[in-house]
Amino acid sequence: MQVTRELFDDVMVPNYAPSAIIPVRGQGSRVWDQNDKEYIDFAGGIAVNCLGHCHPALVQALTEQGQKLWHLSNVMTNEPALRLAKKLTDLTFADKVYFANSGAEANEAALKLARRWALDVHGQHKSQIISFSKSFHGRTFFTVTVGGQAAYSDGFGPKPGDIAHANYNDLASVEALISNNTCAVMLEPLQGEGGIISPDPDFIKGVRALCDKHNALMIFDEVQTGVGRTGAMYAYQDLGVTPDILTSAKALGGGFPIGAMLTTTEIAKHLKVGTHGSTYGGNPLACAVAEAVIDVVSHNDVLAGVMEREQLLRDGLVRINEKYNVFAEIRGKGLLLGAALNDTYKGQAKAILTAAAEHGLMCLIAGADVVRFTPSLVIPIADIEQGLARFEQAVAQVVKG
Ligand SMILES: *Cc1c(COP(=O)(O)O)cnc(C)c1O
Repeated sequence: MQVTRELFDDVMVPNYAPSAIIPVRGQGSRVWDQNDKEYIDFAGGIAVNCLGHCHPALVQALTEQGQKLWHLSNVMTNEPALRLAKKLTDLTFADKVYFANSGAEANEAALKLARRWALDVHGQHKSQIISFSKSFHGRTFFTVTVGGQAAYSDGFGPKPGDIAHANYNDLASVEALISNNTCAVMLEPLQGEGGIISPDPDFIKGVRALCDKHNALMIFDEVQTGVGRTGAMYAYQDLGVTPDILTSAKALGGGFPIGAMLTTTEIAKHLKVGTHGSTYGGNPLACAVAEAVIDVVSHNDVLAGVMEREQLLRDGLVRINEKYNVFAEIRGKGLLLGAALNDTYKGQAKAILTAAAEHGLMCLIAGADVVRFTPSLVIPIADIEQGLARFEQAVAQVVKG
């Protein structure tokens, strides 16, 4: 059977608009399409392929587990899940882990746990969930409603209730909403989909203090920031605050679907037997791969390498901007970077992405005005340099018009 991009339009639900090329293999930070055209990957499958494509340690973990045991369901537990949970609790504030299959599912579990906790400990009045405009927490109906883009949650009928949105980095807007009826405040410790918005450290500490004052849980959605992306194992570790619940997905599996919700013993106990679950959550294949990811990424050399690579990427983008004057700002942290377009080029992020692909570079956007870069945490230095050269050609092409 001949597989072409046209086949997508014939057989797929039209909720995506994938690019014209179809990649067929990858190695490290290089990818090849059906015509054997080569790309450098600054996208990393949207901050997922944290160790690039086909990393030997992950291929080994997958193939070894693939010959042992694929699936049991949660009627039984399994060794990879328990090993992974032990490692995640050793590396973080958390005592307990719940496994899911995606970021949205990890967040769904976090929100349901927060509601259970509030109902059990404080009573029915305490159901309000506060999140932030422009935030993104996934596409289940609960998580997409908590997310701060109404366009994503509108059009599906009545929404889950008692959800309010404050403004990110605006503590007064949280203070205006929060009360003893607040069950939880959910936030990303660096907004990804919303445009690569770094948190003001005082804002994060202020939200923590407000949560403490009103007995509300603080939920960190680290689906995009977690597993080394910002140079720490989890971004909260650099912010001087500890959340009550943390969610992880994307890079956790390095490309194999898995999500996790982490919390304390005291909070976890409210998800009693039978209150929540998933057929695949904690699947041995996924957990074996994620364990290998955690083993590699938690290595100090990898985390230090993220900072080194951030500097190279930033310096390169600044150099390109000195020549072409297209960006107002290079922002973000670690290898979660955004190049925000200036007024002259507003709305042209997609045009730059398309031009970059023509020149053999995969990157992302975060809204219409920001070009986003989330490469592998171990992308070779030479690939960064060559990728930047290709990006410069793309920028030059867009500037020429
Ligand atoms: C991607 C993302 C999600 C959703 O994850 P899925 O695996 O697509 O369900 C949730 N929160 C944040 C911050 C994300 O970046």
